[in-house]
Amino acid sequence: MIDALLSVLFPIGCIGCEKVLLDQESHICLNCELELPVTNYHLEANNPLVKTFWGRVKVEQAFAYLVYKKAGLVKRIVQAIKYKGNKQLAFDFGQRFGQQIKSELYLNGVNALIAVPLHPKRFKQRGFNQSELLVQGIASVTLIQNKSEYVKRTIHTSTQTAKSRIERWENVLSIYEVDQQLFQQKEPCHFLLVDDVVTTGATIESLATELLQMGNCKVSVAALAFAP
Ligand SMILES: [Zn+2]
Repeated sequence: MIDALLSVLFPIGCIGCEKVLLDQESHICLNCELELPVTNYHLEANNPLVKTFWGRVKVEQAFAYLVYKKAGLVKRIVQAIKYKGNKQLAFDFGQRFGQQIKSELYLNGVNALIAVPLHPKRFKQRGFNQSELLVQGIASVTLIQNKSEYVKRTIHTSTQTAKSRIERWENVLSIYEVDQQLFQQKEPCHFLLVDDVVTTGATIESLATELLQMGNCKVSVAALAFAP
């Protein structure tokens, strides 16, 4: 009864257009749903996302669910997750994305999911890692294991000020650390690195480089949204 009362007093609006949602709609209305700029990169081996890593780090496959633009629906979705703390939205979009790329993940032997870690300070502020929620959504429909605990984000930018230029560059390259004790792969591992928005691909490059150094593994990438 309380739920019904609340929905009359504070009807839930569509994230895209703020129109009151119908019972069968969740997060976005049907009109906005039809407007979602889905990339379908899973149908295109040499898609723009995978190309951003060419010559930088070896990425087997790269997927993005949506195209990110400076304004509009996708930006509103990302903001609702990151700044309004809509965790269910992140999980649900993880499920949608997982459903879309499921067959490709199986065909290519992806057997572990890793969320790009947040800076510990940012994690403390936000209270959750949006990429981890995406991973949980993907895991729930693909049943691929979540191995996000394998990696940590370490370096604080403030420690870099006194260092030389080259040292600083090396520092940027290793902002992630692989947990050596957890990561003892006897079987070959194919990781799917999951991030919310990929723009330059620098953080993914850094994380992928760290993982590939461990040997016996491959990496692919999945971003909720890609800003080409
Ligand atoms: Zn709408």
